[in-house]
Amino acid sequence: MADRTERNPHATIHVGGEWREALGGATREILDPADAAPFAVVAEGDEKDADLAVEAARRAFDGGQGTWPRTPVAERAALLRRVAGLLVRDREKLGLLESRDAGKTLEEGRVDVDCVADAFRYFADLVAAEAPGRVVDAGSPDVHSVVVHEPVGVCAMITPWNYPLLQASWKIAPALAAGNTFVIKPSEITPLTTVALIELLVEAGLPAGVANIVTGPGPTVGARLAEHPDVDLVSFTGGLASGTKVAQAAALTVKKVALELGGKNPNVVFADACATDEGFDTAVDQALNAAFIHSGQVCSAGARLIVEESVRDRFVAELARRAGRIRLGRGTEPGVECGPLVSEQQRAKVEAYVASALAEGAVLRCGGRRPEPSPQRPATGYFYEPTVLDHCHRAMKVVREEVFGPVLTVETFRTEDEAVMLANDTEYGLAGAVWTADAGRARRVAGRMRHGTVWINDFHPYLPQAEWGGFGRSGVGRELGPAGLAEYRETKHVYQNLAPAPVRWFAG
Ligand code: NAD
Repeated sequence: MADRTERNPHATIHVGGEWREALGGATREILDPADAAPFAVVAEGDEKDADLAVEAARRAFDGGQGTWPRTPVAERAALLRRVAGLLVRDREKLGLLESRDAGKTLEEGRVDVDCVADAFRYFADLVAAEAPGRVVDAGSPDVHSVVVHEPVGVCAMITPWNYPLLQASWKIAPALAAGNTFVIKPSEITPLTTVALIELLVEAGLPAGVANIVTGPGPTVGARLAEHPDVDLVSFTGGLASGTKVAQAAALTVKKVALELGGKNPNVVFADACATDEGFDTAVDQALNAAFIHSGQVCSAGARLIVEESVRDRFVAELARRAGRIRLGRGTEPGVECGPLVSEQQRAKVEAYVASALAEGAVLRCGGRRPEPSPQRPATGYFYEPTVLDHCHRAMKVVREEVFGPVLTVETFRTEDEAVMLANDTEYGLAGAVWTADAGRARRVAGRMRHGTVWINDFHPYLPQAEWGGFGRSGVGRELGPAGLAEYRETKHVYQNLAPAPVRWFAG
């Protein structure tokens, strides 16, 4: 097998322990969204590459003694910890690669790598601390009954472009901890750090065929993985439209399906949270963080500000003033706070949403355009100014649909019931926050919010030990936490009769 430093950098497909180019020879240029210039070339695989990768993963799973599913848990956990160590070693390199590929700031890229290492450590610890099975009281001293967990088998993983490495780790770490083999297909526009992660798995000593990657498009490689009869589980993170297709394809062979989809997340601010200058400053600051970090290209972005009417004018004025000062530029430039959007297509989508909002009566408080070019911000980059749209209402397209860009809509409420109604007024249900100084109200509102994560007086933090996922059309299943490991397991009941005897159900 070629060494990672020696191998052809275009050979980004890893199947059965070998790095290689696409069978069809196709390649794709990877663009830096800060200037639209190509800075890497990857293999553009197709269905045949996907088939070979599934075959390799199948062989590695079914191979019997000595294979990954039969490797002792302690050894699997040790490998995951070695991967965490390698991630720490390569933090700067991977952070930079993620920054260039996905257009995030270098600091965000570094933090992503830290979170990825945390995920590997968490699943190593979780699986190492588990009991091997649960003995069940069968009601008879002559029966030994135990419930055990086994790996699902061959897992297909399909990931998006906004947090390429992080989303991959939330799938790979639990899948490996549980003893599965896998094929991952990263987003075709941001595959580089996932390729690098597979290199680290190989360096850490993962046996050939356990981890496979096929770089290539969703409608070919992704669709083939979702429908493939030898894949036992498909775990998808991405948009609602593609996720629906994946679920439909997977249904034909009754695969297990995990879907982490979009969000249209509410950030509910009560006036009492703004009663002091300090409280006001914190709520405004966190509303900016909620909506504009990574230029709003975050599944849990707080894109709907739902603020109590009595503080709206003051709140929105300060929010727009500060949003207008956010420093946009290439993520690797010092002092830059927000990078570009990931692609021209994504920026065009954002521009269309802002145009529709203005046509429907929203009032622009800041942004709503491309910024002037500067030395930190090449004219060819996909930049867009942080945008605050006031006087929005629940029927507007921009309020109902996921924009996935730096666009914050503002709605108001007068009562707690109205706040809850607006917070839940979405087909999604991924995450949301409530800001209030009243502890009872905080718990009441959080309890009524139909979202997979609810933050009280905060926005965005997540913990590897706490489940992440959505209500409604934000998805099916959970990542992280014990449930994130359970996704990658089958449950088996082993019932042993210690004193077998005829039952004589049939007399003859
Ligand atoms: P996308 O749906 O366009 O693509 C996601 C992945 O699916 C890519 O790898 C793509 O190639 C692949 N794909 C596309 N069509 C496919 C098909 N027919 N069959 C199989 N695979 C296919 O999403 P995106 O634009 O890359 O990412 C943004 C979306 O991801 C947003 O909606 C965001 O909310 C969501 N997201 C959700 C979470 C979460 O935890 N819930 C996290 C990150 C991103």
